[in-house]
Amino acid sequence: MNMLEIMRYEEPLYRPPCEAGSLIVQVTLGCPHNRCAFCGMYKMKKYRVRDPEEVKADLRRARLVYRHVESVFLADGNTIAMNSDKLADILRYIRRLFPEVERISSYGGGRFLKGKSVEALRKLKEAGLDIIYFGLESGDDEILKAVDKGVDSRDMVVAARRVKEAGILLSVYILLGLGGEDRWRQHAENTARALNAMQPHFIRPRTLYLLPGTPLFREAQEGRFREASGETVMRELQILLGRLELEDAWFLSDHVSNYVPIYGHLPEDREKMLAAVEMAMEKADVYLGPRYLTSL
Ligand code: SF4
Repeated sequence: MNMLEIMRYEEPLYRPPCEAGSLIVQVTLGCPHNRCAFCGMYKMKKYRVRDPEEVKADLRRARLVYRHVESVFLADGNTIAMNSDKLADILRYIRRLFPEVERISSYGGGRFLKGKSVEALRKLKEAGLDIIYFGLESGDDEILKAVDKGVDSRDMVVAARRVKEAGILLSVYILLGLGGEDRWRQHAENTARALNAMQPHFIRPRTLYLLPGTPLFREAQEGRFREASGETVMRELQILLGRLELEDAWFLSDHVSNYVPIYGHLPEDREKMLAAVEMAMEKADVYLGPRYLTSL
């Protein structure tokens, strides 16, 4: 029996690449924001919180089949938006049913985290939540507004700091290329500034890929958004890596959308990562050609 037969999934189903080996449970469906101009993940779903009893029944079925579950990912987008007490109840249930679990994680956006106090987040940590995957995308407010992220960089920094203060690991997504050819420099500079203020444990860059059906795709077709070239994305990375002042953070390009696999720990691996960017620029024909992605 595979996971699709055990858990009652409503597709499409997304999880971070690093959660490939995790038990995935849909505690919520869709995304309560669902407006970001670049995102097509949940356009076909209306956000709702699943019946907790239904979720628990899925978990019991999984327990019957899987003898060892190391990690659990709570889907869909922005599960953190649901009522904290109800989420804590699910977390405690998972910990009781799967005492061997080492990590429970969830997506969580700044628009929804900004309404959660440190105390509420600490209760989620105590109930078993270890890591939040947080979509900053850009630290530039003009870009955030243009893509309808629904939250500005200041509020995202406040929310991210609360996550850390609550003892939850903070993994931040940034979206290279989101400023296009016209705003790439401010995108890089202000994203570095926001990340420095957040001091996340992990930074996970993705590179914009224009998805048919999204507002940003239409803007590009109508000439209102000029997609950043591979070379421009590398220049962004140069500025970003050069300006990051992080005490202890992993930089992990663990996504199929990225031109080059750049991995390292900051601050000590900065030069090594900048050298990888330099190399990609020198061998642009090899690394910076068109991307043909079958899945994102
Ligand atoms: S990027 Fe995240 S917050 Fe924005 S619509 Fe997609 S899932 Fe929702």
